[in-house]
Amino acid sequence: MANVIDVLKCKCPNCKKGKMYSELGNLLLFRAPKMNAICNECSFKFEKEPGFFFGAMFVSYALVAVEMIASVVLFKFILDFSYISVVFVAITTAILLSTINFRISRSIWIYMFYSND
Ligand SMILES: [Zn+2]
Repeated sequence: MANVIDVLKCKCPNCKKGKMYSELGNLLLFRAPKMNAICNECSFKFEKEPGFFFGAMFVSYALVAVEMIASVVLFKFILDFSYISVVFVAITTAILLSTINFRISRSIWIYMFYSND
């Protein structure tokens, strides 16, 4: 059973030791996270087939939607910001979390299709 912490830390689903990413990415430098082709601990292949991560896009959409809803709930219904500032905050949240979303969505995707055999 996949451990949520391993998913969030983007650990290899096979050995839980190796890292999926060699670079975490940096929003300010417009650098996307860089993924290792195989696990440096157990040689598990992360991209099973070409285009495997296409589906991770939908996981990413879901993550962004959840984050935006959470920020709207927080800033509109709890902190009572005006609508225009809530929109601004929600968009800023999505942008700030984009590299994290990129990493986590692929991680979730890998774990979803991982099996021990
Ligand atoms: Zn591994």
